[in-house]
Amino acid sequence: MRLSQYFLPTLRDDPKEAEIVSHRLMLRTGMIRQSSAGIYSWLPLGHRVLRKIEQIVREEQDRAGAIEILMPTIQSADIWRESGRYEDYGKEMLRITDRHGRDMLYGPTNEELITEIFRDSVKSYRDLPRNLYHIQWKFRDEIRPRFGIMRGREFLMKDAYSFDLTEEDARKSYNKMFISYLRTFERMGLKSIPMAADTGPIGGDLSHEFIVLADTGESQVYCDRDLIERSAPGKDIDYDADLMPIINDWTGKYAATEEKHDPKRFEAEVSSDNRVSARGIEVGHIFYFGTKYSEPMNCKVQGPDGKLVAVLSGSYGIGVSRLAAAVIEASHDDDGIIWPDSVAPFNVALINLKAGVNETDAACEDLYTKLANAGIDTLYDDTDERAGAKFATMDLLGVPWQIIVGPRGLKQGEVEIKRRVSGDRQSMTPEAAFKRIVDTD
Ligand code: ATP
Ligand code: MG
Repeated sequence: MRLSQYFLPTLRDDPKEAEIVSHRLMLRTGMIRQSSAGIYSWLPLGHRVLRKIEQIVREEQDRAGAIEILMPTIQSADIWRESGRYEDYGKEMLRITDRHGRDMLYGPTNEELITEIFRDSVKSYRDLPRNLYHIQWKFRDEIRPRFGIMRGREFLMKDAYSFDLTEEDARKSYNKMFISYLRTFERMGLKSIPMAADTGPIGGDLSHEFIVLADTGESQVYCDRDLIERSAPGKDIDYDADLMPIINDWTGKYAATEEKHDPKRFEAEVSSDNRVSARGIEVGHIFYFGTKYSEPMNCKVQGPDGKLVAVLSGSYGIGVSRLAAAVIEASHDDDGIIWPDSVAPFNVALINLKAGVNETDAACEDLYTKLANAGIDTLYDDTDERAGAKFATMDLLGVPWQIIVGPRGLKQGEVEIKRRVSGDRQSMTPEAAFKRIVDTD
């Protein structure tokens, strides 16, 4: 993408409404724009990040055996009356009436809708287990939307729903999602810690929240320091193997959100050096709730003995849009964002220090074409801004690699390459710079 032709409405000054760094940087870099309280447009830079996050989520859901679908944002109130949640859900639900006077709503979550789909399509235990997911916008009329897209009213969520015949199988489905979540967040450069959590209005008894530690997080959490240093299972993980040992390993150490925190247990189980009391961002939440929806909504299958049994379910959410902010909270400095390669809007910033001069233009065009052909997302600054402003903008945007092309270097046959995260700069030939980036990618 050529910067001269791009849509990148950056702000020079800090927006005063932004209380936390991710919100400030998302506005300053022109990633998002508020349209009304808690409702945002995603501008090109932000949209790229959102798509990259979404793709990682998708790949890890698929790897764990979940199947992608797409349900609508607007739902009928009838199914919520069937489950008994229509009245319970309260003011967070945006209720709508269509022209025929029918009660509709903008979905805050999809347990009812997926249960209706499943009940109408699946009749036999032979079609179990299944896990269906979608990545779709949700609306919750939050009483206090704040921190930009961190706590929005409209937000993008991945929600998966598992269906099983026995408790043992349901536990296996839960474990798969547990592990896929560890992998998903790690691929975005985040350390997430699964914590025993309250089940809230969705109900059930087995539940974990995945928390990224950050001073600006809204949740107070307590955990054993050992958990912070752990790595997620690798991509060769066999989801059909017994996952219980891995789960036990992760859940064997103390980790709890405020609602579940037990100070006595914390002190007894964790040595004083290892006691972490911190703030955290909830990026994912998994629940097992058994027959909470299948019983009232009559979602039953014929078991091996011919008898009808209510299916056992769990639901598994990831805050896809919230993750964009969580990554920034975890990875920035005074100059701006530091994107991990995996979710960066562009992987390379190509900076032409003398746009309009034959030598620098030709060298940049050549690199730009090569990078494009190698499938590397490049933002080419071909504008006639002064050098200092160009550097500051690219540091602010947080693109992981910069290639700096200037007349003086070119005389020696060299360009400069800079890694945003470390600030390391090195001169080398354009070919070597290209190769370094391709090899790291
Ligand atoms: P919270 O406790 O933050 O209000 P929740 O428990 O109501 O979230 P879930 O129903 O578990 O949320 O939704 C799954 C995921 O969706 C959450 O883990 C979170 O990452 C994300 N999420 C929930 N509410 C919002 C929101 N208002 N804005 C952005 N993301 C959200
Ligand atoms: Mg939650």
